[in-house]
Amino acid sequence: MSDLTADERAAREGVRRQKCEAVAKLYASAQDCTGCGLHRTRTRVVFGTGNAASPLMLIGEGPGANEDVQGEPFVGRAGKLLDECLFYAGMKREHIYLTNIIKCRAAIEEGGRVQNRPPTAEELDECVPRWLRNQMEIIQPLVICCIGAPAAKVVINSNFSIMRERGRFFECSYSSHAIAVLHPAFILRQEGAEYQRLRGLLIDDLKAAKERAIAARSEAPKTLF
Ligand code: SF4
Repeated sequence: MSDLTADERAAREGVRRQKCEAVAKLYASAQDCTGCGLHRTRTRVVFGTGNAASPLMLIGEGPGANEDVQGEPFVGRAGKLLDECLFYAGMKREHIYLTNIIKCRAAIEEGGRVQNRPPTAEELDECVPRWLRNQMEIIQPLVICCIGAPAAKVVINSNFSIMRERGRFFECSYSSHAIAVLHPAFILRQEGAEYQRLRGLLIDDLKAAKERAIAARSEAPKTLF
């Protein structure tokens, strides 16, 4: 139960509406982006989804094949595992804002198959200031949770080591509280006990991000949403 007054609740609702409208406008303008060469091969721009007024923003690397077709971040097996871990951490997608550092699929054709590839530095230099940075400026997340090393290197520190530094909080230029977690796609490549161990770490780190977001909210209600 929130202990906010009626005025505080109204003020919060006003801010929520403003953020949602501003993000929706930005989303609309991103749909035709030709800022880098990835626009030639993408099916859809994968901008982001969820609650633009959430204090918690999750940021992955970029869309893969399923995301490119559906226009949503984290669909497919990795998305299913992320949803499962969010659930065990006490959250759903509608509680958070979920996006990627790059908005169009980066892929390469090898041996007759189209494979995902990491975005180049030039592609990131075009995309991040146009879209991710503006998303963060509107949403002003109290806590940023980077999913995997590529997002952590862009958002937290270019030398970030996911195996050594995941689960710890850092200050970055976008938020006073930034944490990185293992990428569900990486966890899915493990087996048996190691799979269970890493899945447990992801749940624990997501819980830590949620708890930090609750603590960071100045009104300090008992619930995050
Ligand atoms: S990756 Fe980013 S900059 Fe490049 S076309 Fe897509 S939205 Fe535009």
